Amino acid sequence: MYRVKNTLISLIASFSLVSPAMAASSSLPDMGSSTSRTLSVTEEQAIGDEYILGVRRYLPLSQDPLVIEYINEIGFRLVEQNPDAHDRKFYFFVIKDPSINAFALPGGYIGTHTGLLTAAENESELAAVLGHEIAHVTQRHLARRLERQSQLSFPALASFIGSIIVASQNPEAGIGMMATVQAGFQQAIINHTRENEKEADRIGISAMSRAGFDPSAVASFFEKMQQATRYLRKPPEFLMTHPVNQTRISDARARARSMPAPYNPDSLNFHLIKARLALSVSESNVADYETAKKLYQSEKLKDEVELFRFALLCRANEDYSTAIMLLKQLYLQRQRNYVYLVSLSETFNLAGQPEKAIPFLEAELKNSPTSIPLIMTYARSLISNDQPRAARSLLLEHSYAENVEPQIFQLLSEAQSASGFVDEVHESQGQYLYATGDLQGSLAQFELALSRASDDPYAATRIQAKIDKIQYILRQRRYRK
Ligand SMILES: [Zn+2]
Repeated sequence: MYRVKNTLISLIASFSLVSPAMAASSSLPDMGSSTSRTLSVTEEQAIGDEYILGVRRYLPLSQDPLVIEYINEIGFRLVEQNPDAHDRKFYFFVIKDPSINAFALPGGYIGTHTGLLTAAENESELAAVLGHEIAHVTQRHLARRLERQSQLSFPALASFIGSIIVASQNPEAGIGMMATVQAGFQQAIINHTRENEKEADRIGISAMSRAGFDPSAVASFFEKMQQATRYLRKPPEFLMTHPVNQTRISDARARARSMPAPYNPDSLNFHLIKARLALSVSESNVADYETAKKLYQSEKLKDEVELFRFALLCRANEDYSTAIMLLKQLYLQRQRNYVYLVSLSETFNLAGQPEKAIPFLEAELKNSPTSIPLIMTYARSLISNDQPRAARSLLLEHSYAENVEPQIFQLLSEAQSASGFVDEVHESQGQYLYATGDLQGSLAQFELALSRASDDPYAATRIQAKIDKIQYILRQRRYRK
């Protein structure tokens, strides 16, 4: 399965660079003329919306609401400073993959690998890559490359993307396809992307500077990746999809120098999020814990990020009381830093003391009533504390927003089932499966939901609309095969 996931990652990174040979060899129906047409933003969005369903289904996405919120915060700081971005939708997500990479899909979906987050030494390095990817979207580099696939008219193009998703369910087909795509991909990079890269750097750097990041991080991070290539068997994936040469680095450096100087220091959250990520992927937690414990006992851990990291290591090694003591201290010193609060509450829950998390969370939610990490942590604490009804009302309130994290629906169905609202579970499960790309599964749940009685006068109409939408997508996919 992992191999298939990797295959899909590469396909996603490269699908817009498919060679004409690849297109001709596929069994796509001939949908019409090969003269070039402009891909409208709406069409591009539709392709992206379908694509993201496959991403959610087949890639290992980070489900940590703190990580998701953080990457969106940095992403939108840059989007706001990109004048071409204002009429477009954006959504940032994180993939659990140790390689250094990020990529943009049509429709403003931007994926970042955990490897990039852990390799970035400061927030500006992360912003350098995100600003660049955002510019690929706003300058329509993806859309224009899609347009250039002259053998493919647009319905066939969407079908091609659909078939990648279908192929990924069949490993052999997926891998065969992969080889063909890769061959075309290498060539397409050399032929097409230098200008795009330059333009994305230029626009990314201005947006970074206006958003308060250090624009010189573009040149320094690219250089660092290039140097790393010497010691690795394979260059960082990012360099394979965004080739860097010395001219590009010098251009980026010169441009950064022309930007106004003062910029903001790293946010505390950058380092806290990195600590959480490092711990969730590290396999040496026990050894790290022993080392950190010695440092802590001899009072050598002074820095608050080191203390936070030690608290997480304690938690991973089931020393809940030390973890709670430290996290509480950090939180109270830094009122309103919800990374500490969420970590503290999770630890209370793990230690079987959800009732101790609840007052902290309630107080903080008064300040930030729409914070998804806080809402999810509060709901989880309520469920663990035998208050599933309260969790259900809270989650229902927040499950209608756009781009809701799928885990909200999972938690909601837990709360509904624990509080006896079993008929409602099917709709929440349907929403969860839809949001994670399992259309057949979600259709089955929505059909069950429709067959149950409901006190909600809008339920039937709402559920029927979802069934219609899924059936439409499935019909389209069948038609394209
Ligand atoms: Zn690029």
